[in-house]
Amino acid sequence: MSAVQDNKEKVIKAFREEIKTAYEPGAKVMSADRELRYCLELQRDRLVNRRLSCKEEMNHRGQFPGGLNNVRSWKDGHYETSWAVDFIDHNKTYQRDGMITYRKSEKQSMYETVVDVRDGEDVSQDTYCCPNCGAVSTIAVLQEGCPYCRTSFKMSELFPKISNYFFVYDISGKADNLGKTVLKYGCYLLPVNLALFLGISYFQQGITPVDYLTEPGMLIRLLLGMAILTPVLGFFGWIYSVIFDFIRLAKKDLPVLFSTAGSRGKFAYKMAKLCPEFTFEYFTSRMTSLFKIVVFSDHDEELPFYRGPELGSIFDDVVDVAFRGSMGCKRIKEKDNMVYVTADIYVETAHDLGRRIKLKTETYRITAGRRTDIPFSTNFSITKIQCRNCGGSFNIFKSKKCPFCSSEYQAEYDDWAIYDIHKI
Ligand SMILES: [Zn+2]
Ligand SMILES: [Zn+2]
Repeated sequence: MSAVQDNKEKVIKAFREEIKTAYEPGAKVMSADRELRYCLELQRDRLVNRRLSCKEEMNHRGQFPGGLNNVRSWKDGHYETSWAVDFIDHNKTYQRDGMITYRKSEKQSMYETVVDVRDGEDVSQDTYCCPNCGAVSTIAVLQEGCPYCRTSFKMSELFPKISNYFFVYDISGKADNLGKTVLKYGCYLLPVNLALFLGISYFQQGITPVDYLTEPGMLIRLLLGMAILTPVLGFFGWIYSVIFDFIRLAKKDLPVLFSTAGSRGKFAYKMAKLCPEFTFEYFTSRMTSLFKIVVFSDHDEELPFYRGPELGSIFDDVVDVAFRGSMGCKRIKEKDNMVYVTADIYVETAHDLGRRIKLKTETYRITAGRRTDIPFSTNFSITKIQCRNCGGSFNIFKSKKCPFCSSEYQAEYDDWAIYDIHKI
């Protein structure tokens, strides 16, 4: 296995562990990219403010011990984006004051979107001397600021990172052992089995249920017959449940699949000449994270990347946003060194209604823009952030206002910004 692949595997594995405790106080999901990391932090604050606690249990199941870590991948000029999948039993519980307000338990596949640079070098273990206090730390540690003096840095992302994740209901239980599954369904269907057996023998051979019970020989015949019939019925029961699940799932997801078909091609074709360093998957991940940050942030106007109209309180009761695996690209427009992309994002939002949590399937239309006149570089860069007014250091990705003196940081924000969000 190459070093690159090795690094990826490490990040995928780390994410599967870190995501389980992402809602616990002080948790840092360092395998996630900056945007996803921040959205998890904000979501945790939202839960705390609403006095909710969320407990996640994800237990690996099935025959692939390490999951399938490269199910699909896409390349562009600079990045390689791929999907890794793991099969899990997922239990999620929300509690308030010791009372359960929501509980869900499901067999799922967890997808992770992994982004890596194709031509970058790994500098995460290189050391760097903090220009403020002189302490030496590795670049990896400095992602969250200098641990000694809290100085924040503006630095390039340290790839590979997980940039998005989502769960898909696992319809067929395909990671489970087939024999076990069939026997399980056979056991569920034991009453049907008995009724069928007794019915057939009565109507075809005139044997009554009482005959079976009074004669030991007959009883053995009954049990043997039922034992043979159990896996057969189990198999049909299983097939039937798969079909039923599929119809249920298709009803929910087919509109999404239809409306997003062709999005990847459209995006790749148009973006190739404007902004080639973004695959559709990476763009989708970025939009999902920025959208979630806006949803969970209590101060949209302070976010450096949000340039849309004020959103008021529409997202105030949202405690979770689950990406549903796809996004539809609607329009790409070019104007004055800017490219604007309008896309529909399909999500399931969890609304906290006090006594219970209500899930809603929703679609949001997002318009995002990015400058096209800035040369792209994968060279690593790191600079200290300092407020020009008071000298304080803070994370400008999280807020454009200095938390110490409230003056605005006058830095060029040259990444994707959101210009509009509305529900459709
Ligand atoms: Zn320092
Ligand atoms: Zn300041």
